[in-house]
Parts: sequence; C-alpha cells; structure tokens
Amino acid sequence: MIAVDAAYNKAILKGRKNHIAYQQVGDRQLWKVYKDAATKVSGKIMAAETPITRGQFKTLLASIKSELERLDNKVLHLINQNINKSVKIGVKDSVDRIKIYKDYIPAVYVIKPTSSVLNSIYHDAVRALFRRPLDGIALSDRVWDIHVASLTKIRRIIGTGFLYGEPQYKIAQQVRKMLLISDSDMRKKVWKEFFKRYPPGRGVYKSAYQNTRRVMRTEINNAYKLAQSEYAKSRAWILGVKWNRVAGAIECPECDTYASQDLYNLGGGVYPGGEIPVSHPNCLCFLTEVFNETIRVSIASAKAVV
Ligand SMILES: [Zn+2]
Repeated sequence: MIAVDAAYNKAILKGRKNHIAYQQVGDRQLWKVYKDAATKVSGKIMAAETPITRGQFKTLLASIKSELERLDNKVLHLINQNINKSVKIGVKDSVDRIKIYKDYIPAVYVIKPTSSVLNSIYHDAVRALFRRPLDGIALSDRVWDIHVASLTKIRRIIGTGFLYGEPQYKIAQQVRKMLLISDSDMRKKVWKEFFKRYPPGRGVYKSAYQNTRRVMRTEINNAYKLAQSEYAKSRAWILGVKWNRVAGAIECPECDTYASQDLYNLGGGVYPGGEIPVSHPNCLCFLTEVFNETIRVSIASAKAVV
C-alpha cells in the first residue's frame, strides 16, 4: 500500500513538472508572436515619411491597428491551442496516475479509459472551462482589452514622438518595448524617459506580452486542474479532489481558503469532481485525488492478507 501511494505521489510531482515545462513552451511561443508583431509595428514607424502629415499619421495608426488585430487573432489562437493541449495532458496524467491503483479497485468500479471515455472527459473539461470566464469577462475580451490598451499607448507614444521630432528609431524602440519588455535594462535612460512620460500608475508596469502571458498561464493552469477534476467526476471510488498549496508559496495567499474550506463535507479543501474553485493567476496549487477508502481498502486488505 505504501509503495503504491509513493508511486502516486511521484506521478503527481511528475505531472506538475511536465505542466510547468509545457507552460514555458507556451510562453516562448507567445513571445515569438509578440516579437514578430513588434517588429512589424516598428517597421511601419521607421518607414513613415517625415515631417508626417495628418493624413499620413492617420494611415500609420490604421495600419498599426490592423497589425494589432492580427496579433490579437494569433494570440487567441495560441491560447486556445494551449488550453486544449493542457486539458489533454491533464486527462492523460490522471489516467496514468490512477492506473497505479488498478489492483486496488474492485472490477465493478473500473471504467476503461477508452478513447470515447477520454473524449467525453476532454469535452466536458473544455466546456466547463469556457463556461466560466474569469471575472465574468470572456477570454477573447480579456485579450482584446490588453491590445486596446496597447493601441492607446502606442498612439500617445508616436503622437508625441512625431510632434517633437524625435528620431524614428527611438519612437519605434519605445513602442517595441511597450509591447514586449523582457530583459531590457530598466535603468537605461530611454526607460527613465519612458516612465516619466508614461507613468505606470499603480503597480508595476507590464508590457502587452507580460499581461497576456499572465492570462494564458491562468487559463492553462485552470485547464489542467479542470481536466483532473472532470476525470474524478465520473469515478465512484474517487470521493473528490483535494486542493493543495505548495509549501511556502507566497503567490497563493487566497488559496488558503480553497485548501481548507469544507463546503461539501468531504474534508478540508476537498471538492467533488467538477466543482473546484477557479485559480487566480500564477496559482501554484495542485490537486490530488481523494479516494473512497471503503472501496479501495476492501481489495487492498484482501491482497495484504495474501
Ligand atoms: Zn494557489
């Protein structure tokens, strides 16, 4: 019994590791999409004739707007792809993990993970995911809001830039960084000027890429958890899933409640399949299955006797 539980814990760890690795792949894909768009937008700014006429300025803005609309489409497509993949990985990890207990589950409770069973879990999870947008705002609107904010900032940057006759490469550079920022040195003069002119307001200044990455990470985290929760839903010998905090994770203060409340009389932090709370961005928590011990132990003790 102990060896089996240890194997289970190992599988949980492995799943979390894979998930984080996959998240990083998604981040890189997203980065590339933003980098390409930023390069195109910079190119348009560089190519503008100066002094710019009112008409040319309008045309430039319109063309940048179209570029951001294309970016928006690509980003949404990528996030959806990542969500779907995350659900698939979540279902597969659940299947692999639960297999560890196959000798301990009475045959009557076993549901073979045929492709139709897996498909239906997959579709339930995807449906549940899109049914409950965070903050009541649909995913596509959240992403579009980020790009609308970028567009407003770009308009201000190039408007003042051209008005004061700043070198075009400098205007382009500011716009590029506004969309991306990554490893750029914030102590540089260009940044000091940038923040003087565009105060970040409350909190830390975040680029469009960073804001979107946060949205994507939240979504794929939820997708992975939801897959596990949906998998647990149809299995009689799984009571529910337990919400676990990563020890010492400062990212998750609000998850204390999730990890301790007993809303369903299943124990602290335990939720029936399909009923887990929605994670906040950058949540590091993970789920583990809680088994119906009467079902599990019956076979286990029988085996132990042998
Ligand atoms: Zn958390």
